[in-house]
Amino acid sequence: MSRIAYVNGQYVNLRDAAVNVEDRGYQFADGIYEVCEIIGGKMVDFPRHIARMQRSLRELRIAEAMPLTSLRVVMQEVIRRNRINYGIVYLQISRGVAHRDHGFPSPYVKPSVVVTAKSLNFAKNQATAAKGVKVITTAENRWPRVDIKTVGLLPNVLARQEARDKGAYEAWYVDADGFVTEGASCNAWIVTKDGKVVTRTAASGILAGITRAVLIEVLASMQLKLEERNFTPAEAYDAAEAFVSSASQIVMPVINIDGKPIGDGKPGGIATRLRQEFHKFAAIS
Ligand code: PLP
Repeated sequence: MSRIAYVNGQYVNLRDAAVNVEDRGYQFADGIYEVCEIIGGKMVDFPRHIARMQRSLRELRIAEAMPLTSLRVVMQEVIRRNRINYGIVYLQISRGVAHRDHGFPSPYVKPSVVVTAKSLNFAKNQATAAKGVKVITTAENRWPRVDIKTVGLLPNVLARQEARDKGAYEAWYVDADGFVTEGASCNAWIVTKDGKVVTRTAASGILAGITRAVLIEVLASMQLKLEERNFTPAEAYDAAEAFVSSASQIVMPVINIDGKPIGDGKPGGIATRLRQEFHKFAAIS
């Protein structure tokens, strides 16, 4: 079955799907994106993802390309046409197509909208989570507006490749003050030896992850103590547990950071429980 993408008003075979070479997303990374998990053919936490998308667009002064109800229909249709049961749906909106010039197009052009979806292997993800993953740390080198989910991901690409080159799954950025910010495509968490769950505040240095926000509710329901504060790699090495969160991975236990085993070197109990509980709290629609 060939995969189907939505591109600016049309559903097309993925191999024929294309944007104009003067699309500002292509030339300037002048655009934003969202990724929603799909469970049972339905989107997980769609309203929160759309609220974040609207915020990203506002921050970049990109107009809303279509009414939200239509956008939802398009995303559901891409999921349906690709017969996705478990996977992710990807939405990208750029400022549109215009002759190359750094300033915003004048007159105004319509933003470009692209939606794709793909199946993920549930059993494989579960097996990865059951084993846990390794992370490395690397110097933060992104622009300060990482709160906006832009398609400008070159530092993230390089950090992920650095992790792969070192046999790890993910890289955690460490800022100039020596604190972990987040992963190349996930939020970073540790659990202290006295059972406190620690993650950086969403106020600076990170993308306010939707999975992170839901997990904060899960933690409260499990009567676990949350501390939103900075932590260093040294504190992480000494932690009882570590894990990462994102829409595509939900909770992925981390068992090794910079070559140092975390806790007993196996996925932690809290991370494993959070992974199991997550979808009871997520809005699936
Ligand atoms: N931080 C970064 C840099 C990301 O790219 C992502 C997700 O792609 C996240 C955090 C987690 O966000 P969410 O839970 O909304 O997927």
